[in-house]
Amino acid sequence: MQFIPFVFIILFCITNTILAQSPEVKVELDTAEVPHLHQWGEQAQELILKWHPRLSNLLPTKGFEPPRSIVLKIENTERGIAATTGAKITVSSHWIEKHPQDFGLVLHELVHVIQTYPSVDPWGLTEGIADYLRWGIHEGQAQAKFPIPQEAGGYRKGYQAAAGFLLWIESDIDPGLVKKLNTAMRKGKYQESIFEAESGKTLDELWKGYRNSRTDINMIDSEM
Ligand SMILES: [Zn+2]
Repeated sequence: MQFIPFVFIILFCITNTILAQSPEVKVELDTAEVPHLHQWGEQAQELILKWHPRLSNLLPTKGFEPPRSIVLKIENTERGIAATTGAKITVSSHWIEKHPQDFGLVLHELVHVIQTYPSVDPWGLTEGIADYLRWGIHEGQAQAKFPIPQEAGGYRKGYQAAAGFLLWIESDIDPGLVKKLNTAMRKGKYQESIFEAESGKTLDELWKGYRNSRTDINMIDSEM
């Protein structure tokens, strides 16, 4: 009987280890061209390891496994900002040298790795979801700070214009719609009618509602 507590502790530890295990994410960091940016790369690598499980949970699709072996390369160049091809994220050295605090761009690119959409179309929505998770979730930016284009269909501009729109839909109209859009896009089955089927309003009606909700609109427009 003296051994029972000991056995219990061992069993408890084994059970906890099994429960805590999740598929491992690996990030291969390549700073061979820019050794002076290696430390920045290591911080970006940590950000990916920390946010990969969170972003995967925010963009789930039944039976889908996101890429878990990621390459992060910092390229020695004076052009561009960052790009993602498959599970490879490439960041431009000149941008990091000028904006060393801009780790959010890595988060945006990590969303693209996890999205794994068969097509970038609709482009505005692909980029909007990436910026919604970057600015709306990771950076916690207030709704009023998202730019809002003047024209009808301004969500097509993607990035923060579409991200603010998605943030509004998630908070005020139809929580969970981004997950449904993501799954449809991932399966190559996206149709604009999803907005109406899920929320009861067409995409253009939603955009009008969003613009009307932004009483700060004139101030934001003047910054565009
Ligand atoms: Zn992007």
